[in-house]
Amino acid sequence: MKLTYLGTAAAEGYPALFCRCKYCMEARALGGKNIRTRSQALVNDDLLIDFPADSYHHFLTHGVEFDKVETLIVTHGHSDHFYPRDLYIRGGAFAHDMRSPILQVYGGEGIRGRLYDRAGEEPPNVAFTKVEPFTPFRAGRYEITPLPARHMPGSDPFFYIIKGDKTLLYAHDTGYFYDEVWNYLEATRPYFDMVSLDCTNVDIPIPDEGSHMGFPNIERVLARLTGLGMVDEKTVKIVNHFSHNGNPRHDHLEARAAAYGCLVSYDGMTVEF
Ligand SMILES: [Zn+2]
Ligand SMILES: [Zn+2]
Ligand SMILES: [Zn+2]
Repeated sequence: MKLTYLGTAAAEGYPALFCRCKYCMEARALGGKNIRTRSQALVNDDLLIDFPADSYHHFLTHGVEFDKVETLIVTHGHSDHFYPRDLYIRGGAFAHDMRSPILQVYGGEGIRGRLYDRAGEEPPNVAFTKVEPFTPFRAGRYEITPLPARHMPGSDPFFYIIKGDKTLLYAHDTGYFYDEVWNYLEATRPYFDMVSLDCTNVDIPIPDEGSHMGFPNIERVLARLTGLGMVDEKTVKIVNHFSHNGNPRHDHLEARAAAYGCLVSYDGMTVEF
């Protein structure tokens, strides 16, 4: 199984669109892995996670063949994860000879609201299915389990367990997992071949009740998953989704992440697991 990170920044991008802070200025000078676009990932070549406005950039930069993708799972409605306006060009005069006639979109109630927010219009060739917490569903060759995220209250946000020939935990955006998530994990005991964990805050302290995580929260998540036997030394552990405020310079992040046994995502990174 393979995961490709297409966008690895938080909402503002890195460098941030309107920012002249020290970290953003460094990113502009250094370039390379210090340039991070908004959140999106591709599992193998047929399961897309999130659809930000930067999808177009990912199409240009990484050659993603979006017309071929049959399944899109959406975490939540923040614009760095879901920009439904670009789904309105999925047909008619805007798109010819698509290889996937219908894009199946899965997400919570908040995504349904964002998808159909234009009066009297629906995005063409898009079908929406509302998912339920702790209720696995099949999409193509994957079994996907939505877990409630501690993020964007009232909008039905999720992060996901994605099971193909291996099992991936993709946990963006969320704070420290809710008790009900831990209860579910303890009851079902999946083994994760790979985990991708929210590292928005990097080293800026955030309580476990917050809506994102940094390294100290990640350390607690990994320790608990390891204690339950769901993660071990063979698990590929990656931190992802960084705010400019936490100093997401790639070399800085790599040094910090190594202390937790983690790798650091970057735009265009492909991980086989
Ligand atoms: Zn985000
Ligand atoms: Zn900045
Ligand atoms: Zn968010």
